[in-house]
This record gives sequence, structure tokens and C-alpha cells, in this order.
Amino acid sequence: MTDLDPYISRVLQIGKLSLGGTEPVRIQSMTNTNTMDADATARQVIELYEAGCEIVRITARNVREAGNLGVIRASLENKGFDIPLVADIHFNPRVAEEAACIVHKIRINPGNYLDRQFFLAKEREHQHDFAPGDIREGITRLTDICREHGTIIRVGVNHGSLSERIMFQHGNTAKGMVASAMEFLEICRDNNFHNLVVSMKSSYVPTMVRANLDIVTEMKLKGMDYPVHLGVTEAGEGEDGRIRSAAGIGPLLAMGIGDTIRVSLTEDPVAEIPVAQKLRDHYADIRRLKKPSMPWTSEGKVRVPDLIKLTYPDHDYEEMAIIAAAEMSSLILKAQGNNYHISGDSGRLYPKLVLNILQATGVLITDTEYISCPTCGRTTFDIQTVLKEVKQHTRGLKNVKIAVMGCIVNGPGEMADADYGYVGAGKGKVTLYYEGKVIIKDIPEKDALKELLDLIDKTLPDRS
Ligand code: SF4
Repeated sequence: MTDLDPYISRVLQIGKLSLGGTEPVRIQSMTNTNTMDADATARQVIELYEAGCEIVRITARNVREAGNLGVIRASLENKGFDIPLVADIHFNPRVAEEAACIVHKIRINPGNYLDRQFFLAKEREHQHDFAPGDIREGITRLTDICREHGTIIRVGVNHGSLSERIMFQHGNTAKGMVASAMEFLEICRDNNFHNLVVSMKSSYVPTMVRANLDIVTEMKLKGMDYPVHLGVTEAGEGEDGRIRSAAGIGPLLAMGIGDTIRVSLTEDPVAEIPVAQKLRDHYADIRRLKKPSMPWTSEGKVRVPDLIKLTYPDHDYEEMAIIAAAEMSSLILKAQGNNYHISGDSGRLYPKLVLNILQATGVLITDTEYISCPTCGRTTFDIQTVLKEVKQHTRGLKNVKIAVMGCIVNGPGEMADADYGYVGAGKGKVTLYYEGKVIIKDIPEKDALKELLDLIDKTLPDRS
């Protein structure tokens, strides 16, 4: 087998749904309600399902929330909705073990999954060399429970939350992401547990694509065929969020990689579904025939300077922007072309769209870069309004990255490379970060935007 062969994953059963192989790409999203509010969460799951979402993820921060997933599932089933549910777990293996008995799939993050005290103690002492064998026991306990209940595990690596140990060994890189996932996958395989999905997410499109290509290469080398879930984290909102998501997910679908997708937007999660559907539908033939549009290799190609003109129907601008971002990103990532024109079949040219795609793919930065989380049950402020206000006041800052994140638990890790961070720190409170460090803690939310703008003015004097 060479890496030019298409990657054909095994087929898994999630509730009544099959995923993987040549099954259609499954569309996922995540609720942003409080998981303890079973009615509101079940209502949002149904809204998502009715919009076309096929698999819904719900955060479970603690054992109580994990237990409440049972109430949510029962409420859905009582209303006649048998929708595959996924529990999103960070930090606490007990929560994963509880949720694994209730929902169809659990997502764990290898960067923070195992006993926190164990990791912290080791990492505090800068013992970065403990072996994967040290995490074997915890994973085995989980695979035993999942086997008993037919639960899928998604090994969901996030570029923003690799463990200190992995970063020490491999850096905060796509290579580190692959190492982190492979440790878990190999232990699961040793346990003869194969009900696995893998995901490699980053807010930076080239890293997200690289990590996915590398994990597929690695899995092929090791004889693994686990389905792959795709998504660009903290993609933002509006056109920026759609373009960034399409620029990451599209090239991989074009290469026949990706069995489920989530377009993660800082908006109502229902808004994610049509974007994901457009991407899925655009690449449906590649999926069905398993014939990648262009062969892919794990090495880059030599850039050949040439002008590439792309033309699309432009009666629906949003659809055009999504497909153009996916296709132009494919060309960029394969180093094909160095000058791009996008026009509509109306004859109109779209130079701003070209610039936005170049920015999303990290090729040419001409505007402020924003990252913002899609929100979940942990978010305690109106992030959509705040993000719009932040954007309104800070456009045009080249090479400046501003993060607006819903919570202090995962936000700081996931925005690690942002210059400025506006992070929810509990009800009505915000903490501001500059260059990865806390600058002002627990500011009342009503003052936080002004404080952020003052901080930007102080640290970027040319802006004022
Ligand atoms: S940063 Fe926090 S609030 Fe935002 S999606 Fe991640 S866990 Fe949820």
C-alpha cells in the first residue's frame, strides 16, 4: 500500500447510523446549553437534528453532568428521537467512564484525559519521560467499559491542549498531535478495542491539514483504519468562520479523508449545519467512489508559479465563498498556483474573498486574525455579541491575533498563540491575556471590552 491509495476507514455503528467506509460523511455539531438543563439541551439536540445534524455532542464537565446525559437521552427517546449522542470529556476519567455507559460515543482529549494529579505531579517534577505504559491502566479501564456498552471512543487531539510531556518531546506541532493520538490508538488496539474514531483539530488550517494527513499516513503504516472526524477549532463567526472551516475541511474531503465533520462557528450551532452540508455535498462523489480528486502525498510539492482562475455561480454568495475556500485551499496546500482570481458567473470579481482565503490558509496575512470558540455548556457570557464588538473595533491589525474564548478551563490552552485573549472567567467575569499571560483578572464583563481595547492601545502604540 502506498500513501497514494485512498484511505478507506472501517465502518462503525453509532446508534442506528453507520459511519466510515463509503457511508456518507456524517454531520456533527455540539450543544451550547447547560448540560444540567435537560429540557433545554434536548430541545437544542432536536433543533440540530431537524436542521440535518446527524450526531450531536454534549459537554460533560463532571460526574453529575455525565449522569444527566441519561436524562437527556431518555427525554429524546420519549419524544421519538433516537439521535446518536456524544459526550465531550476533558480531564476526568471518571466522567468518561460514567458517560460511556449512557451515550453512543465519548470524545476524550489525550492531552488532558488521564488522572490530572498523576500528570501534574510528574510534569511539576519535569519528568517528561514516563512511558505510555503509565497511561495504559486508565485507558484499559475505559475500553473495557466501552466494549461492554458498544460505545465508540473518539480520540480527539487538539493542537491547543497537548500535554506538557508531548510538547516536551515533540513541540507544539502536528508531529506532537500525531504522537499523542497514536499512543492512545495503540493501547486501544493492544486491548483489541477498535470502536475508535480519531480527530486532529487546530485553529490554524495548515496544522490541521498536516496533522490529518500525517495521522492517516501513520495509521496506514500501522495497519489501522479508524474513521476520521474533521474540524477546524475556534474558526470564528460569519464569513471568516465559514472560510476557515471550509479551507481546512475541504482539501481533506477532496483527498477522500474524513468520515464525519463539524463546522465549528461562534454562532447558534444550528447555523453550522448548512455549511457542513454544502461541504459534504460538494465532495459526495469523491466519497462515494473513493476517488480522490488529486492524489495526495505526505510531502509537499514544488510550487509552480502560475495564475489560477476560479469561477463559480454567484447567486448565493455564502455558498460560493464556502466552495471557493475549500477548492482554493486545496490548490494552496498542494502548492499549485501562486496567484488566484475568483469570479462569479455574473462576471463580477471577488478580490476580497481571495484575500480572506489567503489569510485563512496562513499564506498572506492582511487583517487581524480572530479565533473564538464555538461555545458550549461552559460559556457564561454572550460571546457572539462580544466577538462582533471586538471585531468592529480591531479590524486591520496585520499579524495580530485576538482570541475570544468562552471559558477559563480550556480557553487559555486553545488560544495559546494568540496575542490577546478575552476569556470568560465565570459568571459576569472576564480575564484578559497578553502574549499568553494573564494581564487583568476577573474584570466585570461590562468593562472588559474597554479594558481590552486599552490594552491593545498600550501594547500596539501605532494603532491609536
Ligand atoms: S473554550 Fe470553553 S466554552 Fe469555549 S468551547 Fe471550549 S470548553 Fe466550551
